[in-house]
Amino acid sequence: MSTVLVLNSGSSSLKYQLVNPASGEALAVGLVEKIGEPVGVLTHEVGDDETTRELPIPDHGEALRLVLGLFDEVGPSLDEAGIVAVGHRVVHGGTAYSHPTVVDDDVEAGIAALAPLAPLHNPANATGIKVARELLDVPHVAVFDTAFFATLPEAAYTYAIDAAVAKAHQIRRYGFHGTSHEYVSQRVSEVLGRQDLRQIVLHLGNGASASAVASGVAVDTSMGLTPLEGLVMGTRSGDLDPAIVFHLRRVAGLDVDEIDNLLNKQSGLKGIAGRNDMREVRSAADDGDPAALLALAVYRHRLVKYVGAYAAVLGGLDVLTFTAGVGENSAPLRQEVVDALGFLGLAVDPEKNAVRSKEPRVISPDGHEGPLVMVVPTNEELAIARLSVAAIS
Ligand code: ADP
Repeated sequence: MSTVLVLNSGSSSLKYQLVNPASGEALAVGLVEKIGEPVGVLTHEVGDDETTRELPIPDHGEALRLVLGLFDEVGPSLDEAGIVAVGHRVVHGGTAYSHPTVVDDDVEAGIAALAPLAPLHNPANATGIKVARELLDVPHVAVFDTAFFATLPEAAYTYAIDAAVAKAHQIRRYGFHGTSHEYVSQRVSEVLGRQDLRQIVLHLGNGASASAVASGVAVDTSMGLTPLEGLVMGTRSGDLDPAIVFHLRRVAGLDVDEIDNLLNKQSGLKGIAGRNDMREVRSAADDGDPAALLALAVYRHRLVKYVGAYAAVLGGLDVLTFTAGVGENSAPLRQEVVDALGFLGLAVDPEKNAVRSKEPRVISPDGHEGPLVMVVPTNEELAIARLSVAAIS
């Protein structure tokens, strides 16, 4: 057996999974939270056994040392599990990194240097890579959330602003959730046994993004320079008139950090309905709460708009796929969105739509003539593990 330790380092957290890339099995799953706070929390799960530790965890180095200690103490032993690589989730690859990349000192510095493009994420990712390289003597691979969208055509990634300003400050569409969009669109091709498909993937989690994929190649996506653009999300606004930012500055008197916080953390479902969790918004809407009903309507309206736009970009549509927390679990949302898109020939079978499963599945009616609707559970950790193994082979 060979396994990959997949690490996702946030500013005060470290998520990890020990994955067998061949079988897809996660041998251990864990999370260190509240790094740098007075009391940190470490949760390590192996099958149904959960180990929790609460203690001060001053930095990411200490967090990873504790995690490695638990692998020794409660298992599985990394040596016996045949660890062959560490796969790091990195949010921003800029224009420099368009493929999973084996990390050396230059790559580590290159990731840290992209901090201006992803100030919250890349410094944390770079720290995670640094401490992991010190503690684990195996190849380390950086897998970039932007990489799948390196193929976007110039017309799709260029913002219509002063070209010199854009160039000087690396302002363009990069796209995010790329590992998920790549994994899901490839699963669709595998399940249907066809590569030449015009696909739209809706990744609807707390963050949400849409992509248009032609024969396996990404041709458009809804997130932009940062993950703020595009769909309505849990706490992010998605698309808005950029002049709202000037208005908030000049008329509402907010400073830049306050506007950043408002649009990234206090908007989206939370902004309209006061709740960012789709289950809570749905249940409030079912109780007739007007704000929740409006939030759902805005959320759906944006989705319908993007699917229509991407069907136009693709020159037609073969498969529409739902993934991530909301996409995989909310049958009512899938039904409502597809109902609004009936003019494209899309339809769902209510019984198939209601089935809960971890398997990829078609939810269009049997014998349906038009484009298919699918649900494909995403698995970013498995995708990172497989891409890491491919990068070192
Ligand atoms: P993240 O972007 O943090 O990885 P997830 O992909 O786990 O998020 O998605 C989280 C979202 O999925 C939350 O809004 C949650 O309410 C939603 N979700 C999970 N289960 C359901 C469900 N059964 N019905 C509707 N929404 C759900």
